[in-house]
Amino acid sequence: MAGRRRERGWPADPDPLPVPVVDNHTHLDAIGPFAAQVTDRVPDDAGELVERPIPVPSVEDVVARAAAVGVDRMVQVGCDLDAVRWTDALLSAGPADGDATSADGDVGSADGDVSRPERGSEGRISSPSARGASPSARGASPSARGASPSAVGIRTVAAAVLGAVAIHPNESVLHALGLRPAPGDLEVGPDGLTPEPEARHAVGLDDAIAEVAAVARANERVRAIGETGMDLFRTGPRGAKVQREAFRAHVALAKELGLAMQIHDRDAHAQVLDVLARDGAPERTVFHCYSGDAEMARFCAAQGWYLSFAGPVGFRANDELRAALRAVPLDQVLVETDAPYLTPHPYRGRPNAPYLVPYTVRTVAEVLGRSLEDVCRAVSRNAEQVYGGWPGAPA
Ligand SMILES: [Zn+2]
Repeated sequence: MAGRRRERGWPADPDPLPVPVVDNHTHLDAIGPFAAQVTDRVPDDAGELVERPIPVPSVEDVVARAAAVGVDRMVQVGCDLDAVRWTDALLSAGPADGDATSADGDVGSADGDVSRPERGSEGRISSPSARGASPSARGASPSARGASPSAVGIRTVAAAVLGAVAIHPNESVLHALGLRPAPGDLEVGPDGLTPEPEARHAVGLDDAIAEVAAVARANERVRAIGETGMDLFRTGPRGAKVQREAFRAHVALAKELGLAMQIHDRDAHAQVLDVLARDGAPERTVFHCYSGDAEMARFCAAQGWYLSFAGPVGFRANDELRAALRAVPLDQVLVETDAPYLTPHPYRGRPNAPYLVPYTVRTVAEVLGRSLEDVCRAVSRNAEQVYGGWPGAPA
């Protein structure tokens, strides 16, 4: 099939939603760096297929493109130490509780207040950092890629965003091992990959979780601890022990701070439910990218937990996931992208961003036999209930 065009670029914009919704789980810090790695095969002037980089959007581009199709609020999930700091910096540029809410209802201009002074000296953080691209971009003050955005732009971006922070289960294993693990300490997971420590893993696991706690305590736009949980796809039995204890520490933290919790559960349904049964779940608990069956969905719903559905609910093979969706009351359903991963059908394999959540919302409406308006209203209201309001956002 040499020479055949296979599109890898950004999917087309969906039709706008009739009522604005929330992307329950996205990684804004990762979208730019992810796109920077992607090339598309496109015809050149002579009709010859050539590899070309795809556009790398700024965080402002990502947020504006989403707002234009009715995704005007989102939860940014910072789940490694670098991303926790990045998220903290982004949210610190946002409006505080009690700031005037824009009343014009225009999703494209959430904040017209140009007179409000910048908080601190972090006026440049709304551009995507080159996190992952260069060591100098790491740390509390992410460096800007491209032009420095305007002050209005920063607050518009930050007004659309609330945050969740945690040390991801697969990250906790690496923090526990440290930068120079003894030979044989790095377990090859069922996925066949050997984990590779990065500079941030020099910080011990307890210290890493303590930093998450400090950010969550100090930043009022951090409304959830997550994603935390267990991932038995990526780790062996020794790593699983570490993940379990890290998960328990995150559960305790969410409860102590009265925050919601977003759970990552990959091939670990029984283990995750066991921890929640023993320790008790936080009052507002969300299974991000829900992947269990209908029976587990009924159990979760009975506990009052929320299930968040991502792109896979629309994948052809996933009848079981659609059965799970039907087993949950609509007032416990959320939708998400998990961008830049898990791009919805029919764009699987291409990069993902919050502007693509309408594809999943439409799938949910179709599966439940509900009107699109009903589903939009429900997922928006559910998110507001779980995370509290988005101060400064237009809704
Ligand atoms: Zn995620």
